[in-house]
Amino acid sequence: MRAVQYRHLGRGPEVVDIDKPEPGPGQIRLRVTAAGLCHSDLGLMSQPADQYGYGLPLTLGHEGAGTVDKLGPGVSDVEVGESFAVYGPRGCGRCRACSRGEENYCPHAAELGIKPPGLGEPGALAEYLIVHDKRFLVPLDGLDPVKAVSLTDAGLTPYHAIRSSQDKLFPGAHVVVIGVGGLGHVAVQIIRAITGATVVAVDLNRDRLDMALNVGAHHALLAGDRTADEIRTLTGVAGAQVVFDFAGAQSTLDLARDVVAIDGCIQIVGIGGGSVATGFGHTPLGVAVRAPYWGSRSELGEVLDLARAGLVEVRVEEFALEEAVVAYRKLDAGELLGRAVIVP
Ligand code: NAD
Ligand code: ZN
Repeated sequence: MRAVQYRHLGRGPEVVDIDKPEPGPGQIRLRVTAAGLCHSDLGLMSQPADQYGYGLPLTLGHEGAGTVDKLGPGVSDVEVGESFAVYGPRGCGRCRACSRGEENYCPHAAELGIKPPGLGEPGALAEYLIVHDKRFLVPLDGLDPVKAVSLTDAGLTPYHAIRSSQDKLFPGAHVVVIGVGGLGHVAVQIIRAITGATVVAVDLNRDRLDMALNVGAHHALLAGDRTADEIRTLTGVAGAQVVFDFAGAQSTLDLARDVVAIDGCIQIVGIGGGSVATGFGHTPLGVAVRAPYWGSRSELGEVLDLARAGLVEVRVEEFALEEAVVAYRKLDAGELLGRAVIVP
């Protein structure tokens, strides 16, 4: 089968032929109907040898959807032909976090060497994908896989971050969304759908800011030297109750610290390498700083429900599997609006 793999450190993705995988006991083989590209894939492929821990060759893709193609021995209650989104985070499946559906926070995954598809295990950027257990399958129930696939990360990750700050997102609150790309443009929609807060989008790219306004942001600001003052003009002296930073660079986290309200929250979602010093004198009184990771299984179900209700829609640019290298290049160059989705 055809697959998009990272095969040599520093060389970028390649479209290659590999063996079609067979499902083992308890496993399910999906024929992939859609797979999304994430900026994290570029982050992974830019890591030097002493930091890289995902194995080679690595079939990329941690946003996946597919129809059941073959069942491994012992799989019940799943039918060939059914259409699913894949819940990507993978834990031990037995601990407290996993039994709550929070496999993203399983404390045992690292020591057991358990890794998500596309982030250690073979991912969804291929014609077929092995899913380790039926608990990772969430029914699409009528959703178009191409439109829905990125909800498994670009929807789930912001939803998880937003839900954990929901008590601060009261009507009249201001929320700043820094970086309105793949994750950020979905974040804007989720905030509008489930809170009464006023959304201020910040980005370096004008087209992304226009998209943010199109999907519901109240204000859109170009990132620059004056952004903190411009945000203060909008929020008044109180500042922004919550800042979601989907870049996570030092400059954006400095901005977050400058505009966050007393008793507010900074959610660092982007893996841009920046940090925020916390404590008295560093951040306003009562401010919490979090670095949330992905989301829970039940939260994925809720994000899919938001899409079914027409409240959230991922802006998708479609590519064929053979065009994956071009799609990654566009993502890297900042030439995409929304999410790039590969349709094998
Ligand atoms: P993307 O490239 O689609 O979007 C990033 C956006 O941020 C772009 O619109 C870009 O113009 C903007 N941006 C970059 N630097 C900026 C700056 N200095 N100021 C303002 N805007 C800036 O990327 P994506 O796929 O949406 O991913 C966003 C980030 O989230 C990445 O760092 C990715 O690795 C990370 N991520 C984290 C998790 C998690 O669980 N924490 C999950 C998925 C992705
Ligand atoms: Zn991702």
